[in-house]
This record gives sequence, structure tokens and C-alpha cells, in this order.
Amino acid sequence: MTDIKKMYIGGEWVEAIGGETLEVHNPATGELVGVVTFGDERDALRAIDAAHAAFPAWSKLTARERSRYLYRLYELTFQARDELAALISAEMGKPIREAKGEVVGSADYFQWYAEEAKRVYGETIPSSFPDKRIMVIRQPVGVVGAITPWNFPVNMVARKIAPALAAGCTVVLKPAEGTPLSAIRLFELIHEAGFPAGVVNLVIGQPEKVGEAFLTSPKVRKIAFTGSTRVGKLLMEGAAKQVKRVSLELGGHAPFIVFEDADLDAAVKGVFESKYRNTGQMCICTNRLYVHESIVDAFVEKLVARVKRAKVGDGRQKDTEVGPIINERGLQKVLDHIEDARSKGAVVACGGRRLTEGEYANGYFVEPTVLVNVTPEMKILTEETFGPVVPVIPFKDEAQVIEMANDSNYGLAAYVYTRDVGRAFRLSEALEYGIVGVNDGAPVQTQAPFGGFKESGLGREGGHHAMDEFLETKFISFGL
Ligand code: ADP
Repeated sequence: MTDIKKMYIGGEWVEAIGGETLEVHNPATGELVGVVTFGDERDALRAIDAAHAAFPAWSKLTARERSRYLYRLYELTFQARDELAALISAEMGKPIREAKGEVVGSADYFQWYAEEAKRVYGETIPSSFPDKRIMVIRQPVGVVGAITPWNFPVNMVARKIAPALAAGCTVVLKPAEGTPLSAIRLFELIHEAGFPAGVVNLVIGQPEKVGEAFLTSPKVRKIAFTGSTRVGKLLMEGAAKQVKRVSLELGGHAPFIVFEDADLDAAVKGVFESKYRNTGQMCICTNRLYVHESIVDAFVEKLVARVKRAKVGDGRQKDTEVGPIINERGLQKVLDHIEDARSKGAVVACGGRRLTEGEYANGYFVEPTVLVNVTPEMKILTEETFGPVVPVIPFKDEAQVIEMANDSNYGLAAYVYTRDVGRAFRLSEALEYGIVGVNDGAPVQTQAPFGGFKESGLGREGGHHAMDEFLETKFISFGL
């Protein structure tokens, strides 16, 4: 009988109060990877109490002391990178090379915020009155309820808890149902790093019930969420009742623009990185590929040649470049986008089908796909696909492509390929997106602010910017 993995509350490994469990399956093979305890609002409330009790002591530690715990966690995460990567690959199908990159990047968050913890500076401001002085200090917001998705199951956790802990907050984390195993392993490392009991807690359980506990408990002062725009809106609405602070990292629908003066080989590489990495399951994934009409045929030819070479398979195999889709629902959405486009006149330049033979028989695999003859009424041009499918749209000039690129409710990432410096500046400034990759298909780094405009979210993760999300600003007025 498989071990039932537990959650981590108040420094202890515990089972759900209700005694339920949840199975985790590999989307590449359908194999059972593990069984976890699966709770509800009762477990969440227990964890919130633990985090609330731990807050006074943790927030009063010096920054140097908090930094030491984070640094230790950085070392442990880095040492465990192969094991964590294998778990990610097994529970959500990520190609193993990418999974290792994810874990190393996650460790980097712990290291970076171990340093940033020491730089929570205040201000003194010249007063308008001779007998008064103005001082501004920054203090942790309190208990944070964090909710993370399955597509970067370790990185999204690190990106939230590292700045929260650095700022002096305590945390209750709820990982996605599909990927609790890598989160559990990370919490074993948190335990090993010696964080005081209750400072970081892991609750695995029913999303609506855990979310409701976060929203209704006055002990939780802040919600940090990454996931769909639909759930982000629900959380924002719910948070309004107690004016809880929220930071939201939501969906995207990235335009990728290739001008006629671009280095086409670099642009193909950029599209491949931004579209097929993580099997197209990233919020910064390209979802619309705009190519100047004078080069569109040549570009599609090069892109198709690259996409056809992509090795599709089980993420655990070394040479896999494109893995499975996370689950049946995700797969059906991708197939629906292809079918909808095809039925409205799109032409499949390569791919286009589900893979069902041989090694693919028990998994959720789709061929990496390029679509041409795409028109605006197709779903793929407005809805997030979350799969390895790219639609190509020709454009005439700069003004037209800026208008098309900005015509979206989303505003997370955009990409521009050009060798004209003036154009690169004009586009970077005109695109209504929180992240612009100029000749860069992978614009993510620990020290840079990551987040979206419009319905792609609120707040920023990464960089010193993320510290702001977990700090209150206090004005102290001194009468002399
Ligand atoms: P996806 O469709 O990509 O799975 P979701 O937004 O549904 O994206 O999931 C992201 C995270 O949000 C997961 O941890 C999931 O369990 C959680 N979640 C889903 N629904 C709710 C909800 N109503 N309240 C709180 N969390 C939720």
C-alpha cells in the first residue's frame, strides 16, 4: 500500500481532519505517483492559527536572523534539485531538463530574498513644522494565504514564500491538487532548515474550502495567488469583504511580433521557447504570432521545420522537449482550439492531432502545432490555449500590429523581434503588457518584476518589487 503523504502544520506532519485522500497520477502514463492526505477548511483554519501564533516572534527576529533560515533553505533546495525535478516531472509531466531549471530557479529565490530581507529600509522626510519629525517604517502585513498552480509547482511556491518570509510574514500555502508531491518535498526541506513551528505551513485540500478559510479568517491579512483569471476574480471579490490585500498572477495571451528586419533564426528559437516550453502551459506563453507579411512564408517554413523536430514524450526521458498536457480537461481545451480554428478555415501547417499510439497511449499528448490562415473569430485568438499550438497572423505595419497586439483583456507578456533600436523602444513602450521580451523568448529572472496589466493580475513577484506586496508602510509623526 502506498504511503499517504501528509501536510505540514505548526511544524508537524499531520493528516486531514476529515481523513480524505487524493491520488496523484502521471499525465504521461496514467501511473499512480503518490497518495496525499486531502483536507478542507478545518485543516486550513488549524494552519492559519499556527501561522498567526508564529507571527509575533518571526516578525520580531532581526532581518539577519530571518535571512539565515532562507539561506539554509536555498542550500537544501539546490542540493535536492535532482530529486525535486524528478518529482515535478512525474507528477505533471515536465521535461526533466526544464524541471531541473525550475528547481535551480526556485533555490535562487530563497537566496535572493535571503539578501533582500536585509534591505527593508524606511525613510525620514523633511517636516513642514519645526517641532515635528516624519519617520516612515515598513512592517510585515501578517499571515499570508498563498495559493499556487500546477504548472511550476516548486517555483511558484518559492516565488511567494521567499519574499513573504523575508518581509517577516508567516505563511499558509495551498498547492494545486495535481502537484502536491513536490510541494511536500520542499516542505521537508523547510523543516530541515529549522524554521520555527508555524512560520510556514502546508495545507493540501479542497480549493474552494481552503480558499474560503483564507478569505473569511480575519487572521489572514493577505492573499497571494497564481492561477486562472476566473479564480483570481473570485478571490479578489472575496477579499473585498475584509479589504484583505491581494496579489494576483493570472492568465495571459501573449503576442509575439516578428518584424521584417528580425534575425529569423533567433525569432524561431524565441517562439519555440515561449510557446512549446512546459508544453505551452505557461501564463507568459505566446498565444498569437504576428509576422510581417513580407516574411511570413519564409518564417513559417523555418518554424515548422523546428517544431517538427521537437521530441514529444514522457518528461522523465532525457531527450523529451514537449511533454503531456496536465489532464483530460486541459487536453480537451487544446484540441477544441485546434478544431474550432480548423472548422473556421485555419490550415494546419504542422501537428494538429492528439497522439495516441504506442508510448502515448495512456497520456495526454498533442502534436506541437502551427496554424495559418487564422481569423479573429477563432477562439485561439482570444482564449488562453495552454498547450503547444501557435496561430500565425500576418501584419502590414507597426501601427497595425500594436493595435492588434493590445486588443486583449490580458496584459502579461509580449515579445518583439526586430534589429531596429528605435522600433524596439517604440514597441516596448506601446505594448500594454507587464513584461516585454525584446529579442528574448524567456523573459524571467529572479531579480526582475514579474506581473501583468489588465486582467492578468495585480502586483509583482520577483525583484525588490515583490517585497512591497508583503509590507505595510507606517508613517510615524514625532512631536519634539
Ligand atoms: P487551473 O485551471 O490552471 O488549474 P486554477 O485557477 O483553477 O487554474 O488553479 C490554480 C490554483 O487555485 C490551484 O491551487 C487551485 O486548487 C486553486 N483554486 C481553484 N479554485 C479555487 C477557489 N475557488 N478558491 C481558492 N483556490 C482555488
